[in-house]
Amino acid sequence: MADAENGYSKQVLIVGAGIAGMQAALDIANSGYQVVLVEQWPSIGGHMHQLSETFPTLDCAQCILTPRTVDVGRHERIALYTYSEIEEISGTVGDFRVRIRRKPAYVNWDLCTACGACTEACPQAIPVAFDRELELAKVMASGKVRLVGTGKAIYTLSPQAVPKKPVIDVRYCTYFQKGKCRLCEKVCPVGAIDYEQQPKWIEERVGAIILATGYELYPLEKLGEYGAGQIPDVIDALAMERLLSASGPTAGVMRRPSDGKEPKEVVWIQCAGSRDPEQGMPYCSKICCMYSAKQAMLYKHKVHDGQAYIFYIDIRSAGKRYEEFIQRAMEEDRVLFVRGKVSKVFREGDKVMVWGVDTLTGLPVEVAADLVVISPAMIPSEGTRKLATMLGVEVDEFGWWTERDGNLAPLETKQPGVFLAGAGIGPKDIPEAVSQGSGAAGKVLSLLSRWGGPSDPASE
Ligand SMILES: Cc1cc2nc3c(=O)[nH]c(=O)nc-3n(C[C@H](O)[C@H](O)[C@H](O)COP(=O)(O)OP(=O)(O)OC[C@H]3O[C@@H](n4cnc5c(N)ncnc54)[C@H](O)[C@@H]3O)c2cc1C
Repeated sequence: MADAENGYSKQVLIVGAGIAGMQAALDIANSGYQVVLVEQWPSIGGHMHQLSETFPTLDCAQCILTPRTVDVGRHERIALYTYSEIEEISGTVGDFRVRIRRKPAYVNWDLCTACGACTEACPQAIPVAFDRELELAKVMASGKVRLVGTGKAIYTLSPQAVPKKPVIDVRYCTYFQKGKCRLCEKVCPVGAIDYEQQPKWIEERVGAIILATGYELYPLEKLGEYGAGQIPDVIDALAMERLLSASGPTAGVMRRPSDGKEPKEVVWIQCAGSRDPEQGMPYCSKICCMYSAKQAMLYKHKVHDGQAYIFYIDIRSAGKRYEEFIQRAMEEDRVLFVRGKVSKVFREGDKVMVWGVDTLTGLPVEVAADLVVISPAMIPSEGTRKLATMLGVEVDEFGWWTERDGNLAPLETKQPGVFLAGAGIGPKDIPEAVSQGSGAAGKVLSLLSRWGGPSDPASE
């Protein structure tokens, strides 16, 4: 979409539809410009979509997120490409050429009415990334207890997903793996299942780009001292969000994975891989103290006779009303904060033993826990480096986007026309990610305004 007078495109590409990318998209689209929003997951919302409630207000994350995702999904000036990735970018400010690859969902989304019959009929319970590959105890017909995944081989991310369209995970689908089943096809009332679907490529021309690619968590498997992902009742903090969430796999009922029992002693371990220059990342992941306090409070609201322990190095609660939130966790919900680093986590019978030292008393501490929640270091999203190479934008030694100037140009890159927002720059909470989304949108709007006002969509 080129501007007739000067040849610049006034269309904007945003990569990543988490809360930062969505905020930027809405601000730009509401100002009259066209946005191309590309998201790798089947639905938008990013990690906020996985959360239970949010600190420090304890708002239901889905309830405050859904109006935004619906606005983005319905906006006439936002072209949304989910389940898609950027394959190629060339050009310069005002005239970038972008090639987007839409992955095959094996479902014709134009026909699909999101009735859910396919997911219900699918016989394959699988561990899904959205639920952090959680497996939960299930009593089988034989009476044996087995751990099974919380999703299906054909799935939508959540009941509130936007767009609410299913995809087939071919790694687990019996038809793709063994050539038989096709149950989803049989029950689909509109014939939307398409096992032959191929990827599609879309070419777009844009004048500016916002990178809002967000974060991931350092994998538990790399944290040997915490059971290295081998103990089912040692989970990471996003998995705990899913267990606490009313729209999660247990409908918000507290259950531990190994046997489905209500956990009575739960331990949170901070700084797992963060602030650890020798084995992990030297930086602080910034939000773990807050979300652990939140999770411990929510746990106590569900299990009144339960005990919550948080092992921490020091409490970092620098945000509006954050310190008060920590105090509330301590005083009202009686969460026990233990200042000390954990040295070892191991299984003993049906307990998970946590060994550490209370550095305030100098005494060793041992907790026989039912469930352990790890706060791993936040790390950049997997595709960040690839995108950086494509664009010639810098990342630091850990892979976080590098700002043009950390003090005075924190949302710009050294590449003219390429801007940054959200947790892809470094760990941050939702309010900061939203502010950066709006900030980057402001930067883009001031650039576009130099090329004239918004084009009339009818004339494009
Ligand atoms: C356990 C836990 C609990 C939390 N609780 C809270 C809380 O209570 N309150 C709070 O304020 N904050 C909380 N947070 C932090 C919150 O998750 C982040 O602040 C927020 O998600 C950042 O939004 P974002 O859009 O920058 O990134 P993300 O949410 O990470 O979104 C980035 C999006 O970009 C997509 N993407 C990445 N790379 C590509 C690519 N190459 N191509 C296309 N798409 C791509 C991703 O799929 C994702 O959808 C919590 C974090 C954790 C880990």
